[in-house]
Amino acid sequence: MYPAPFRYHRPASLKEAILMLSALGETAKPLAGGQTLIPVLKLRLDEPTDIVDIGRLPDLRFARKENDWIQIGALSSHGWIAKSDIASAIPIVRDCAGGIADAQVRSLGTIGGSVSAAHPNCDWPALLHVLDAEVVCSGPNGDRQVPVDQFISDAYTTTLATDELVTSLRFKAPAAGSGGAYITYKKAAAAFPVCSVGIQLTLGAGNLCQDLRIIMGGAGPTPRRALEAERELRGREINPQLWARAADAAIAVAEPDSDTRGDTAYKRQLLRGLILKVADVAMLRCANTKIEGSHIYA
Ligand SMILES: Cc1cc2nc3c(=O)[nH]c(=O)nc-3n(C[C@H](O)[C@H](O)[C@H](O)COP(=O)(O)OP(=O)(O)OC[C@H]3O[C@@H](n4cnc5c(N)ncnc54)[C@H](O)[C@@H]3O)c2cc1C
Repeated sequence: MYPAPFRYHRPASLKEAILMLSALGETAKPLAGGQTLIPVLKLRLDEPTDIVDIGRLPDLRFARKENDWIQIGALSSHGWIAKSDIASAIPIVRDCAGGIADAQVRSLGTIGGSVSAAHPNCDWPALLHVLDAEVVCSGPNGDRQVPVDQFISDAYTTTLATDELVTSLRFKAPAAGSGGAYITYKKAAAAFPVCSVGIQLTLGAGNLCQDLRIIMGGAGPTPRRALEAERELRGREINPQLWARAADAAIAVAEPDSDTRGDTAYKRQLLRGLILKVADVAMLRCANTKIEGSHIYA
């Protein structure tokens, strides 16, 4: 199906794009890599009057470290991030970026588009929650930083204003002694994940858990933090029995939908298995072991 007719605009700068969105109002939509928006238009799930193509705006593709903060530009594609120095230094970022879809989608789809689309099963919203990231939103009155769990307010819904753009994502670089991993379970490369789990863990001597965050993707309308599971582990010497208890506590708060990819009970067990697998990889990475956190295909 062809999309409904729309007017196409290609601003030359970020400032011009924001002015354009302000002038056009809420029936205009920004277009970045088009990997979500184009199918949505073709299926006529949305019929914007105006498309503001931000895909070629300069200066929004970068990944850098400044002091303790990592900042990634909104127009950085998944594939570009996977090959960046930041992904080499922070393996959980490489797990996420390198595992999204296939090479074609990875080369066009952007981190800013992924977080703005707020799909419940998509990878960046969950991964950025693991890293306690902030979304930098730029509008006519300047920039504001919004924690990613407040930015995504519901499935496919964000708190971004219609005259704002996501311009970057930022998070604190993981502490020394910290290791993280992110793994999804999916039917095929070019399919959205059924479920995913990300864990960032900081261990002290004797496997003492100093801190951690456990986030589950596809476990509800928005990425779900397993707070009770974290409490099971924080401040304790971690062992497999404790991880098993934590995994049970985590899936007690998971609310995956029953759909063609599996029912709720099946997906809860899937999440439990993923937590134990991701925990293994994160612990090895805390000990500086180089290990790939490969996704699991059905
Ligand atoms: C076959 C296929 C398989 C896929 N598999 C996966 C997968 O395994 N894992 C996964 O996570 N994703 C997957 N995706 C989705 C993919 O990651 C998309 O690239 C991503 O969701 C959207 O990024 P985009 O740059 O293409 O955004 P677009 O499609 O251009 O835009 C998406 C939405 O965000 C808005 N938007 C875009 N950029 C901005 C911005 N900077 N500021 C404000 N609003 C903005 C648009 O208006 C639109 O509403 C898949 C997509 C396809 C087609």
